[in-house]
Amino acid sequence: MSRRRTAPKGRLSDRDVSDLAARGEAELARERLATEQAARIAAEEAQERLRQSEAKFAGIVSIASDAIISVNEAQQIILFNQGAETMFGYQASDVLGRRLDMLLPRGARPAHREHIRDFGQSPIAARRMAERQEISGQRKNGEEFPAEAAISKLDLGNERIYTVVLRDISRRKRAEEAQRFLAQASSVLAASLDHETTLASVARLAAGPLADFCIIDLVQEGGHVDRLVVAHADPAKEGVAQQLLRYPLDRSRPHLVFKMLQTGQPELWPELPESYLESVAQNKDHLRLLGALHIRSLLAVPLRSHGRLLGALTLVMAESGRHYQPEDLELAEELAHRAALAIENARLYREAQKAVWARDEVLSVVSHDLGNPLSAIFIGTGLLLKSLPADGRPDESRQHLEAIRASAAQMERLIGNLLEIRRMEAGRLRLDCKPEEPAGLIAEACHVLQPLASVKSQLLQTEIPADGLPRVLADRERVLQVLSNLVGNAVKYTPAGGRITVRAETREAEVGFLVSDTGPGIPPEHLPHIFERFWQVRQSGRRGIGLGLAIAKGIVEAHGGRIWVESRPGAGSTFHFTLPMAE
Ligand code: ADP
Repeated sequence: MSRRRTAPKGRLSDRDVSDLAARGEAELARERLATEQAARIAAEEAQERLRQSEAKFAGIVSIASDAIISVNEAQQIILFNQGAETMFGYQASDVLGRRLDMLLPRGARPAHREHIRDFGQSPIAARRMAERQEISGQRKNGEEFPAEAAISKLDLGNERIYTVVLRDISRRKRAEEAQRFLAQASSVLAASLDHETTLASVARLAAGPLADFCIIDLVQEGGHVDRLVVAHADPAKEGVAQQLLRYPLDRSRPHLVFKMLQTGQPELWPELPESYLESVAQNKDHLRLLGALHIRSLLAVPLRSHGRLLGALTLVMAESGRHYQPEDLELAEELAHRAALAIENARLYREAQKAVWARDEVLSVVSHDLGNPLSAIFIGTGLLLKSLPADGRPDESRQHLEAIRASAAQMERLIGNLLEIRRMEAGRLRLDCKPEEPAGLIAEACHVLQPLASVKSQLLQTEIPADGLPRVLADRERVLQVLSNLVGNAVKYTPAGGRITVRAETREAEVGFLVSDTGPGIPPEHLPHIFERFWQVRQSGRRGIGLGLAIAKGIVEAHGGRIWVESRPGAGSTFHFTLPMAE
């Protein structure tokens, strides 16, 4: 509380006056001092607040993971935060006062200077740089990297400051490039089922983007490992790299491929020691070759399909000076995964082709080598039957001879079916189509099979619309073969006393043929397979070889028709097929 100034009572002496004057001045001086002190404290507080706020700002700027770089009008660096230090590999003290150019790849410098000048003249205060194209930075070690950048300008008195905020997008770019590469790899690998082509494609894909050169080793039957493919990114060096194929892997020496095949784990060597090459080289020539290839860094990943180790994909860095790092592993493994599937598919395809080839070989033998003895049996039994007395009396010899002839005929039919299916697969089924009466075709097929149905006391009947049917465009012999197969099956699978009905009806531009029986029917789970080659419902006592329906399907489809079945266990079966109308 301030003291109230009171005047002394009564008359004032000179001394009093001078005392009073002195007291008043002192008071005033004290007040001035207090005011000054308060002002100083306020100024100090304001300064402290400013310092704190600047420190806060500087703290934020310095810890930001983005690089924040400010330059003056002469493009000299005046601020370089921690993010920039990490991104560029320079200390702030290395760059402050130097020109911004030092952080850009040489080729990008003129365009960048112009860009900043344009921006300086524009009325906009801030903008994203190079919205369409990418910005590149250059680290202290010379490495270039892609970046996203935003720039702002600030006028402080008569000084103008530009601030660039940069974000290193190498990781994102790498991930995008990896995705693009894998998508391309998938389509390249899907392009062929040939084993050699697939292996070469895998090696070609890897050499360049993933490696200076790459090697594929595959585990062969019996467990030995074959070095099969080498591809170099540089065509001029391809020849030297190919020489590696001359040196098969030696099991008695340690090799990263063997180790990897044993552990199933990838092998990463960012920096390959010289001693390693010496340890795997088989002789001086081999070592010289390894030396000539300038191998620096290796990454080997297993080729694994369905849990089975097929081999190894070894990626090698040489002249490019690049080194593998743990982050390269994921892409290499992804490529190896796709490559292994393609290699496995190609292998399975090759095996399937071999199996088809082996079957065709057997079929050739069957058709040629069994055909002749069968003809001999036919001719011989025919002559013997003729030589028997035709007195009409039951004769045991005649019965035996006829049974032999019937068996030989069945064997001929089976051989015929086998050859037919082979012709179909080879696309060699030739049709000789003419307009045919459906009723005539049905009658002929039933006529041939009537005796068989009679033996089983089956009723074999036909149903043709009274107003007739349009003619179909058909190869007579082939369609008779289809009808015989279907009616023959109906007779074969329907128990004695059953009924078989063959019908035909008009269906838009087609004629539909139907063969129904009162047989056991087909279980629903078998229906999707019934027209497959060599497919039969598992049952005791085989009565065919499972080719009849496959052949029927091939013939009907070659005519442009369709074939299908409707059946339920216990409720008989109806086989349908259609043929195009002739007119
Ligand atoms: P195959 O008669 O020589 O075995 P198919 O291709 O003609 O060969 O027939 C395949 C299978 O379809 C037969 O094994 C049989 O199980 C079944 N099948 C065909 N037709 C009938 C039918 N009418 N009734 C019941 N099952 C049938």
